[in-house]
Amino acid sequence: MSDYVKDLMAEVKAKHPAQPEFHQAVQEVAESLSLVLDRHPEYRSAKILERIIEPERVIIFRVPWVDDQGETNINIGYRIEMNSAIGPYKGGLRFHPSVNLGILKFLAFEQVFKNSLTSLPMGGGKGGSDFDPKGKSDLKIMRFCQAFMSELFRHIGPNTDVPAGDIGVGGREIGYLFGQYKKLRNEFTGVLTGKGLNWGGSLIRPEATGYGAVYFAAEMLTTRNETLEGKVCLVSGSGNVAQYTTEKILDLGGKVVTLSDSNGYIYDEEGINKEKLNFIMELKNVRRGRIKEYVDKYKKAIYKDIDPYLDHNPLWDHKAQCAFPSATQNEINWIDAQNLIKNGVYVVSEGANMPTTIEGVNIFLDNKILYGPGKAANAGGVSVSGLEMSQNSQRLPWTREEVDNRLHLIMKNIHNTCVEMADRFGTPGNYVNGANIGGFLKVADAMIDQGVV
Ligand code: NAP
Repeated sequence: MSDYVKDLMAEVKAKHPAQPEFHQAVQEVAESLSLVLDRHPEYRSAKILERIIEPERVIIFRVPWVDDQGETNINIGYRIEMNSAIGPYKGGLRFHPSVNLGILKFLAFEQVFKNSLTSLPMGGGKGGSDFDPKGKSDLKIMRFCQAFMSELFRHIGPNTDVPAGDIGVGGREIGYLFGQYKKLRNEFTGVLTGKGLNWGGSLIRPEATGYGAVYFAAEMLTTRNETLEGKVCLVSGSGNVAQYTTEKILDLGGKVVTLSDSNGYIYDEEGINKEKLNFIMELKNVRRGRIKEYVDKYKKAIYKDIDPYLDHNPLWDHKAQCAFPSATQNEINWIDAQNLIKNGVYVVSEGANMPTTIEGVNIFLDNKILYGPGKAANAGGVSVSGLEMSQNSQRLPWTREEVDNRLHLIMKNIHNTCVEMADRFGTPGNYVNGANIGGFLKVADAMIDQGVV
């Protein structure tokens, strides 16, 4: 670690204590950017990185709501408006009991670079609540979403801040949030993305993050003249990103052998084919059940509960060539990273945000595998959100093919940017540096143009 990064991190930790995920995200970016700051002292003297680290605005609010038993509940709501140098704040809402300020700041920080990489005009933001939608009735979810939007509506707008979904916020939640926004503002605008198709949504938005992560993996493989055909893939999670990652891997001829949820994971050596994937989609999106039920139906597969005392995740300890972490942050630690390498994995494309610890990332980089970090590999979701905003502004929906072609092109361009930037700054093949530098330059130049604001 350079002296610059050491000093910067000491300051960040002193100013923002007890936010380990935020520190982790900043450290990874700062290490990549020291290559740029050495060559471009103008960014250092304008304190661009120091400014990017501080959110432009943090909104924290009370979300009181009454459930269907008449009981009053209180949750915490957040919106981090991180950076608007290249467009309105844009980033998802996460509803999960683990949500806190530090986690949302790490996500908002990552989002700034990711959105810049897409080449669409979107700034970075993130938000959410410590509300847990798991196992709750539709009525409870609706009441919570309405209470959440009753405060959030005054801070967002189609030209100001455009939230989307993330963990725990899917089509159902976006519907309730949009309905409440519309009622309060008395206007029908593209203020949220991930909307339903009948009311301003875009085709391919649900698929976009997963498809994009697979397109990114396919691009990385082309640098070695290979394809996904016949490759065995480990996928974690079983939510939105994991489902469509699996679908696209199957389309491209790969074989998926694992999926998981927060209770455990399944391993199906025969492969999760389209029929089995349909079962999972119904299980997770309609019945809202647990992944464990997969082995009741497909008897040859095995299920393992998460063991909180284990120092690694056994999902990553199977023979494979590719891994697509698609659940949550820090789900691959250094032991998992070593297990992946030992088992033959040489492609990692991150559907989740920051699923690998810094130690794990360093193992991937040392082993020179094809490692696509989340801010590049999972940028497909926000890209199609950007395309949804364009369609809303034009009031014209595009076809499935048009959106998918644009998504594919954006993922190829992000890949090329990463490769080019990694080369230009003397670290060929290092997609971490490539993504961080590529995302940074556009935002940094815009910030210099716009003065100290
Ligand atoms: P989702 O539909 O809510 O699914 C999340 C999945 O991950 C579920 O299977 C969930 O299991 C599992 N999970 C969540 N927290 C976990 C934990 N602490 N330990 C183990 N498993 C856990 O969310 P998603 O939209 O697929 O998001 C997954 C990841 O992709 C997140 O990192 C998100 O930030 C990232 N991402 C999403 C998008 C998007 O467009 N949705 C875009 C870019 C990045 P349970 O059901 O048991 O909770």
